[in-house]
Amino acid sequence: MSRFLSARFAALEAYVPGEQPQDRSYVKLNTNESPFPPSPEVIAAVSAGEAERLNLYPDPEGRRLRKKLADLYQVGEENVFLSNGSDDILNFAFMAFCDQERPVAFPDISYGFYPVFAQLYNLPATVIPLGEDFTLNPEDYCELRQNIVIANPNAPTGLAISVADIEGIVRSNPDHVVVIDEAYVDFGAESCYPLIRQYDNLLVSMTFSKSRSMAGARLGFALGSAGLIRDLNKIKYSTNPYNLDRLTLAAGEAAVDSDGYYRANCRTIMENRAYTVGELDKLGFSTLPSQANFIFTRCPRMDGGQLYRALKDRGVLVRYWDKPALRDYVRVTIGSREQMDVFLAQVRNILKEEPAHENR
Ligand code: PMP
Repeated sequence: MSRFLSARFAALEAYVPGEQPQDRSYVKLNTNESPFPPSPEVIAAVSAGEAERLNLYPDPEGRRLRKKLADLYQVGEENVFLSNGSDDILNFAFMAFCDQERPVAFPDISYGFYPVFAQLYNLPATVIPLGEDFTLNPEDYCELRQNIVIANPNAPTGLAISVADIEGIVRSNPDHVVVIDEAYVDFGAESCYPLIRQYDNLLVSMTFSKSRSMAGARLGFALGSAGLIRDLNKIKYSTNPYNLDRLTLAAGEAAVDSDGYYRANCRTIMENRAYTVGELDKLGFSTLPSQANFIFTRCPRMDGGQLYRALKDRGVLVRYWDKPALRDYVRVTIGSREQMDVFLAQVRNILKEEPAHENR
């Protein structure tokens, strides 16, 4: 920290993203990326025309992409907000809708960025515990009279709640914004976006980073009432109107046109998930029932940190958190079948070779 940093950020603990090592190649199952490349149409869209026009600013409204997303989700263009990754949507939502009088509530175990945004904007935050089995009780959020952020499916657990439960939360907090973070919704959970037609306080945040293989392009979008989208735009135009570059916009348009390709990839990820969970079951692991492109799993013989390190030594990266409720688990991104076979083979080796780790 330099002597110039504003005192209001002195205690801020920044978000720590998962490792992105550049030193050697790993089987990378730590940041929930897609193992599949973008569709051939996306690669063509980026390599060709747009690169030659990088001397010109992009369309700040992203009109072509918004129209395509509006058609895909059967909503109006005024219901679509585009952003530089969905982290940006969350940032803008915390900035736009929360203040001292309108605090924010979120689960204690969820995406690690929510408490960082709450701290960044100096917001009173209500952190609501999950059950011991990591399930979220929707009733905890009904009639809360606070803004609410819920990841559905949740991270790092992969557990999802139903659209009916979300509707109950949204309906019972009509004067507050409910943000449903659906970064992982395309891997088996049900999206609540159709509810935006009925509820002007629901904002649904989505991303091209996971199911659409574009984590490197930074493209997120939100669906919500025209009023909420206008508010987010007010913040965007007050910070960085050109927050999406030409290449990302072109890639996004081509990605929406390749919806079938991504749906097929999501089905493959779900099959690989079921396969991986089945194999881990045979090794005595307990795995939460995930509807995301990752699993949260507990080794019968060692804690999450030990398993993480043993896997890393063998060239496989997963993620773990050194926190009381989480430290027995690792979160493993579901990759290609080949990647999962390498992961499983290394897990078997570790269990065979390292009985010294036995601590239960
Ligand atoms: N929400 C959740 C729950 C996430 O895990 C992530 C990925 N780290 C994001 C949002 C943000 O993803 P992106 O900015 O790549 O869209």
